[in-house]
Amino acid sequence: MRLINEFSWSFSRANTFTECQKKYWYTYYGSWEGWPKTPRDERPSIDPLAAKLYMLKQIQHLPMFIGSCVHTTIEEFLKKSRHTKKAISPELLIEAGEKLFDKGLVDSKKGVWKAAPKKHANLFEHYYGSTDISEEAITAAKAKITTSLSNWVSSPIVQQLAFSPNSEWLSIEELNSFQLQGRFKIIVVIDFALKWKSGVACLFDWKTGGESDKTLTQLYCYALFANRTWGIPLDRIVISPFYLFQNSYSKIGFQQEEPLSVEKLEQVEAEMLKSCEEMAVLHSTDPCPDPRLFAYTKDRGKCERCPFKEVCIGAEYQDLSRQELALVGKC
Ligand code: SF4
Repeated sequence: MRLINEFSWSFSRANTFTECQKKYWYTYYGSWEGWPKTPRDERPSIDPLAAKLYMLKQIQHLPMFIGSCVHTTIEEFLKKSRHTKKAISPELLIEAGEKLFDKGLVDSKKGVWKAAPKKHANLFEHYYGSTDISEEAITAAKAKITTSLSNWVSSPIVQQLAFSPNSEWLSIEELNSFQLQGRFKIIVVIDFALKWKSGVACLFDWKTGGESDKTLTQLYCYALFANRTWGIPLDRIVISPFYLFQNSYSKIGFQQEEPLSVEKLEQVEAEMLKSCEEMAVLHSTDPCPDPRLFAYTKDRGKCERCPFKEVCIGAEYQDLSRQELALVGKC
C-alpha cells in the first residue's frame, strides 16, 4: 500500500521552505518513498531519484551530528528512566554519548549508510570532503558532547524538576500534532515536557548550538499545542530553552519574571497560518508537485554547505522536470 504524502506544517519544514524552495522540494516531495524496502513493503520498486534524494537528505554536518548525538543520548536515558524515575548516572550518560559519536564516525567513513541511510550517520564532511575530519575537530566535537551532557544532567531541571516525585512526564521527543484553525496539521516534537502536581506544565527545548530567537518562537508554538491538545491553561505553562554547551537556560511563563506573552502567542499563530497557506498552495499528493514550481535560492552562498548540491550543480541550476532531474542525478 502506498503512503499518502499529506500536507502538514512543522518548524523545520517552514525553515527549509524559507531557506530554499528547491531544497524543500527535494526534502519533502522528491525523496518521498525513497526509503529502502522492508520485507513487508508492497512497492514493486523504488524510484531511483527518490532513493538518491532520500539518501542526500539524511546527510548531516558535523555540528548537526553533535546535536543528534546529544539529543538521542538524552532521549534514550529519559525513556529508560520514565517508569523507574531512577536518577541518571552522569558517567554512563557521557559514555553513551561518546560511543554514539564514535560509531557514527566509523559508519560514515565506511559508508554503512548505503544500505540504510536513515539508520547510520553520513557526514557531509565525508560525503563531499576530499579530506578526512581532523583529529582536532574530533576532539573538539567530543568535548562539546561531554560538556553538553554534563551540563544537562547536573542542571536543576534534571536534578530538581524532572526526578521530583511531584512531576509527571508528559512527553519525551514524541511526535504530536494539533490543528491550526481546523485547516492545517501542525507537527510538534517537544524534547521534554512535564507536569507539576499543581497542574503547571514545563516545556523544554535542548540546544547544542548558539542562542537564537527562533528557539523561543518554537517554544511558543509548543505552548499552543500544550494548551489545545493537553488542555493546559496558557497561564499555567512555562517554556524553557536550554543551551546545553553554554549551560544557559531561561524560564518564561507561570510565576517567572517574564510571563508568557499573549501578543507573541497571537503573532506566532498568525505567522504559522501565513506560512501554512504559502506552502499548502504548492502542495499536491499524487502526483507530487512539479519541481519547476520551486525556485532555487538566489543566495548561492547557501549551496556550499547544502547536502543536495550534487543534484543542483549537476542540473546547472536549470529548472528541470522530475524526469530530467533523474537523468542529471544518473538515476
Ligand atoms: S544546492 Fe543551493 S539551490 Fe540547491 S537545494 Fe541546496 S541551497 Fe537550494
